[in-house]
Parts: sequence; structure tokens; C-alpha cells
Amino acid sequence: MSDDTAHPHAPEGRRPRDGHCVVLGGSIAGLFAARVLYETFARVTVVDRDTLPTTDENRRGVPQGRHAHAILPAGTRGLQEMFPGLLEYFEAAGVPVVREPTEMHFAPGGHLLCQEGRYADPTPTYQPTRPQLEGGVRARVRELPGVEIVDRCEATGLLSTPDGTRVTGVRLVHRDSGAERELTADLVVDATGRGGRTTRWLTDLGHEPPREDRIAVDIKYVSRTLRLAPGALGRRKVVIVGAEPGRPTGATFLQHEPDRWMLTLIGYGGHHPPTDPGDFLEFAKPILPSDVFEALCAAEPLDAPVAHRYPASVRRRYEGLERFPDGLLVFGDAICSFNPVYGQGMSVAALQADVLRECLGHGRDRLAYRFFRAAARRIEVAWQMAVGSDLALPQVEGDRPLPVRLSNAFFGAVLTAAEQDPVVAQEFVKVSSLLSAPLILLNPVTLGRVVRGNLHPRRRRPIRSH
Ligand SMILES: Cc1cc2nc3c(=O)[nH]c(=O)nc-3n(C[C@H](O)[C@H](O)[C@H](O)COP(=O)(O)OP(=O)(O)OC[C@H]3O[C@@H](n4cnc5c(N)ncnc54)[C@H](O)[C@@H]3O)c2cc1C
Repeated sequence: MSDDTAHPHAPEGRRPRDGHCVVLGGSIAGLFAARVLYETFARVTVVDRDTLPTTDENRRGVPQGRHAHAILPAGTRGLQEMFPGLLEYFEAAGVPVVREPTEMHFAPGGHLLCQEGRYADPTPTYQPTRPQLEGGVRARVRELPGVEIVDRCEATGLLSTPDGTRVTGVRLVHRDSGAERELTADLVVDATGRGGRTTRWLTDLGHEPPREDRIAVDIKYVSRTLRLAPGALGRRKVVIVGAEPGRPTGATFLQHEPDRWMLTLIGYGGHHPPTDPGDFLEFAKPILPSDVFEALCAAEPLDAPVAHRYPASVRRRYEGLERFPDGLLVFGDAICSFNPVYGQGMSVAALQADVLRECLGHGRDRLAYRFFRAAARRIEVAWQMAVGSDLALPQVEGDRPLPVRLSNAFFGAVLTAAEQDPVVAQEFVKVSSLLSAPLILLNPVTLGRVVRGNLHPRRRRPIRSH
């Protein structure tokens, strides 16, 4: 099938849209991929095994939707570019927006970041719930010409040429009727999440699976939604307290509506939060600032605590494969699933979408080869930051070579300075939100401030903020 009409959003000079692409998985990464692919493919079919809701509901295939889910500014930029008007729609619907440091209590690694000054980068943080975010994105993808979203359909295998060098489509099973169906495609994109099946399918086609890097973090999330009295936390709209070497537990407390908040408690190996409501509250006590804990005690629970286990961060090194079939790509968590406490997954999916657009701009020849290498460079920064932070905790198993120890010592110094210096705090936030590379912290001016901040560090105080 071909369509000779160049897409209105396509950059000038791009070839007309043609061909059919199938995206497996209609969650955030699959939707981002579909948004980019429709610029060059005449037809894009997104297939998901779940029932995809038309309202902002949680669903089975995305259990993480019941837990605190924040999109970092790097992902927000991607949303702005891919879906103009979506963020404004969220804001008009009452989604809280964090624009000032005073609205965020952010304490990574035991350091409460200075809340003075203004954010140097104008990208604010929007706080829709995960189902709200996914629902908003899906509604916009559904409206794109040539895009069809098919739910309750499970991908069970790939179709290929007899020698396995080219993928020609996908095998599907409809979950209601059990009927099998083959869908041919010029490109199949696997966005089925961390359980992505491409590794097994590659073996079926006679290819090697990719090498996997794993960091066993053994994390448990327990979350519940609460009603807080308006203004109970002052100006704060988000409270994030990370784990630290002496306390492998943390919390994220996110405002989703003026009086509706989600509290997620997190614990690394052996220090898992309980689901019993009373014990859940007790677990939060040593983590949260005392005034936040008091507000929590006075809050009205709106649901029961729910749990989610996350055993390991997994990175599949597709970029290292010598042979990979044409007509196939892997995308999103199916390439790299990050320890969720750093909130990187959706933003890295947006960065991958950017990479995919760039690669498609140079045609479809050797697409997988070019995409995996370019995506790996974007993933690398986020992966190293997450792994480095995890390895700062003695509870996480893994080698700690000299570069990791040096980098962790440096980040410790940056965070110490960031407690009192708004400039250092904002430079750190730019890095942790994936807007800038960590190299910006080595800028001589920032370095000077880091050194000064460590010569006269503020005496450690109980963490309590505005
Ligand atoms: C507890 C937790 C908290 C998180 N918190 C954050 C956060 O704060 N910020 C952030 O940016 N990221 C967070 N993440 C990560 C984020 O959820 C993912 O990065 C994001 O959803 C993109 O993943 P994905 O679309 O690749 O896969 P997923 O979201 O896992 O979706 C996979 C999709 O594929 C479908 N599927 C699976 N198999 C098949 C099949 N065989 N056939 C058809 N369909 C199939 C599923 O139904 C699902 O819709 C968190 C993750 C977890 C686990």
C-alpha cells in the first residue's frame, strides 16, 4: 500500500508516506513509536493484548499505573513536540504543574536540594496520573491518519523470509475468539515492555539473542491514594525522598488533584514496605519529613495499599549484535527497563522516539543497525546514572570499579553543595531529569561552586522544607 501525499508534519524533503508498520504494545513506548512512524508509513497498526480503556483507568498490562509515575522534563519536552496542546489540556483539566523549586521537595541520596531561586530551564513538571497520561497520548495517536489501534490481540510470533533475514509480519491471536491471524508488515516494532519477546523470537529465526546487562535491585513498591486537606503541604506538590546508604528505603508523594495525592513507598532488598495500612504508615515515618508525615496521618485513605515487585534493571544490548533481521525494531522498555525509582522509562522512550525520527529521516536502509546504535548512546547516560546511584547502596550487588566509585563520590559532593546553592541544585536537576549530560557539572563555574559548597557544608539537619 502506498500513499503519495507527504505528511503535513513531515520535515521538508522527506519522501512520501508508504508501507505498513505494526507496533506491538500500545503503552507509552508503542504510542510514541507510532506517533513518529506515521510520519513515514502510510499505515501504522498498534496491537495490544490488553483491553485498552477509553477513560483514564488502570489496566492489567500496565500494573505500574497504580504507583507514583512522574514524567521528567526530558519526556515533557518530547510530549510537547509530539503532541502539541496535550500539556495545556492536562493543565486545563487541573493537573498540578511544578514550576518553582519551592513546589518540589527533592532529597536524593540524603541531601535535600536547595529550594531557593528559579529553575533555569523553563520545562515544568506535569503530574497527571499514569493512566491519565497514557489515555491522553493514546487519544491523540488514535486520531492520526492511517493509524489503527487494535486491542485484545496478542502477538505470538514473527513471520519471516525462509532464511530468517527479513521479518515480514507478525502472528496474532485474538483473545476473545482465540482466532489466529497473520498480519504482514514492512516493519514490526516490538514495544511489548520488559518482558518483550524479541529475544526468544530471534532464536526461533536462527539469530543470536542480545547480551543482557542486569542490576539486581530487588525493589518493592507499595502505594495508596490519599485525600489531603488543601494546603496541608504548603506550596509543595511533590515530595521525593531517595534511598541512601544507611537507609535503603524511599518515598514519592505526588499531588494529582488539589486534594488527591499518591504515596509510593519503596524499599531495596530485604527492606520492603508492607501492605498492611498501619505498618505502611509506620514504614513511612523515618523516611518522610516530619510535617509531611503529620499530614499523612491526618489524610483520608482512598484505596488499599497495592504492591509491585521490581527484581532487576535489564538492558538488552541490541546494538552489539552482528546479525539482526531487516524489518524489525525493538523499542522502549523492551530494550532497557530502568530501576523505576529514578522515573526515567517514559522519558527515555521519548528520547528513543526522537532517535527513530532522525533515523527514518535517512531512509529505511539498515534501520535497525542505525537505530540501535543511536538509541544506545541516549540510553547510556540514563543507565549509567541509575546504575551508579544503585551501586551507592551497599544492599545492591554488583562490581564497583574505580570509575563508579569516583563518579559516586563526585555526585555526593555535587549534592552536598546543592543543599545550599541553588545554581548547583538546578544543574543537578537538569542532569537527573535527562535534559543535560552529566558533563555540565564539570563546567569550571559549577565545579568551583561544588568545591566551595564542600569546604563549608551545611550541618546535616532533619529534612523539613517549606
Ligand atoms: C513500578 C514502576 C514505576 C515506574 N515509574 C515510572 C516513572 O515514575 N516515570 C517513568 O518515566 N517511568 C516509570 N516506569 C517505567 C514506565 O512505566 C515505562 O518505561 C513505560 O511504560 C514505557 O514502557 P513500554 O511502553 O516499553 O512498556 P510497558 O509500559 O510495559 O507496556 C507494554 C505493553 O505491551 C503490551 N504487551 C505485552 N506483551 C504483548 C504481546 N505479546 N502482544 C501484544 N501486546 C503485548 C502490554 O499490554 C502493554 O500495554 C515505572 C515502571 C514501574 C514498573
